[in-house]
Amino acid sequence: MMGRLEQDQRRFFHDFCLEDHVPDGHLLRRIDGHLDLGEFREQLRPFYSHTGRPSVDPELMIRMLIVGYCYGIRSERRLCDEVHLNLAYRWFCGLGLEGRVPDHSTFSLNRHGRFRNAEAFRLLFEGVLRRCMAAGLVGGEGFAVDASVLEADASRYHGEAPAEIDWSDPKLNTRPVREYLAALDPEPDPKRKAPKVISLSDPASAWTAKANKRVQFGYGLNYLIDTEHAIIVDVEATPARTYDEVMATKTMLDRTEKRFSLKPERLAADTAYGTGRFLAWLVEQKIEPHIPVWDMSRRKDGTLSRDDFTFDRKRDLYVCPWGKTLKTTGRVHEGKTLLYRASKHDCERCPLKLMCCPNTPQRKIPRDINEDARDHARSLKGTEAYEKSRCERKKVEMLFAHLKRHLGFERLRLRGLTGAQDEFLLAATAQNLKRLAKLAAIPPPSTKAA
Ligand code: SF4
Repeated sequence: MMGRLEQDQRRFFHDFCLEDHVPDGHLLRRIDGHLDLGEFREQLRPFYSHTGRPSVDPELMIRMLIVGYCYGIRSERRLCDEVHLNLAYRWFCGLGLEGRVPDHSTFSLNRHGRFRNAEAFRLLFEGVLRRCMAAGLVGGEGFAVDASVLEADASRYHGEAPAEIDWSDPKLNTRPVREYLAALDPEPDPKRKAPKVISLSDPASAWTAKANKRVQFGYGLNYLIDTEHAIIVDVEATPARTYDEVMATKTMLDRTEKRFSLKPERLAADTAYGTGRFLAWLVEQKIEPHIPVWDMSRRKDGTLSRDDFTFDRKRDLYVCPWGKTLKTTGRVHEGKTLLYRASKHDCERCPLKLMCCPNTPQRKIPRDINEDARDHARSLKGTEAYEKSRCERKKVEMLFAHLKRHLGFERLRLRGLTGAQDEFLLAATAQNLKRLAKLAAIPPPSTKAA
């Protein structure tokens, strides 16, 4: 006999316990086992007044944000609705069936004001990372770094040339603009190219085509991970420019060492990080660069490349295939290159001239001032450890893919570098919490520390 659902939805009294309705293996239950926000609450205390009406509980807000970043709910309005309706979300946030979910505008106000000033998201990220370390998920020997472009919340049709922008216009008195102007270097590096186009709504973002898509304004999401279990050990937001991304790696490595005494023996990265300057810095830090060298010296027109010349380190000169020497004056060009020149006299009489320098009277060989570090990086290529790092490097890309494909993290919702930093810290925290929930046993309550 076909049954019929019989239920009176107008009942006043229910015998209902939320705790009983969240399964043991539920992601949020496992994450909750690793989360203790007591210390976090204490660190936020100075940012709240001692008088007046009690604010929204910061722990409730953080838990709601964790739900949002674990399940790809990016809109604050939708997050408030989802927490209101979903039993598991309610349970995780510590709300009863009738517990009041904050209004989305109150939620935004706290998130973008107090939390940002208190660096709350970095505190949260570091607390979770400490938990990962305590659970033995961070080996600390091999790190990998990479960056991914995320579209800024700025229209690609509304960029302007910097010379045409009047920053004193009251319409431009917005938080992202104020932050951008405050961070401008009064003495910019002359070697760095000025941006051609700037967004008026989010000027700190960079005009880029790096994501292999259309040209857009974007930020670089920089992850530094421990390769053992793909735990993110640091995260940094930069404009989507390769130079800034490489610089961010130094910041992240320094910070990880200072905050957690973590210093890797090796760093894996792609060719974008294989510049002489960065490789030399790594070698100086005693970190093995498992990085392909950025090398433009190989010629494609069939003439002799730099590899066909032998460098004599003792005499500081190159020897050409015809046995002649190329010497340098020691002058550094563009802050990074020495030029080694052959003698005009030698080249004019050389039988190899057409294969060597058909269009110039003499051959010149550029050499990076950090060529020794580049040679060291080249010498590591092909070793077992290097090949292992090459595979492990892909774990960063998988984290980016997960963010973009499964969590819909393609375009930022917050503006300015601080907005991007907040979003990236929360995304990294959620990803680490998921790894922790998957790989580590839930500790007894007294040992929780996040
Ligand atoms: S052209 Fe000059 S640099 Fe080149 S092989 Fe001949 S002598 Fe050497």
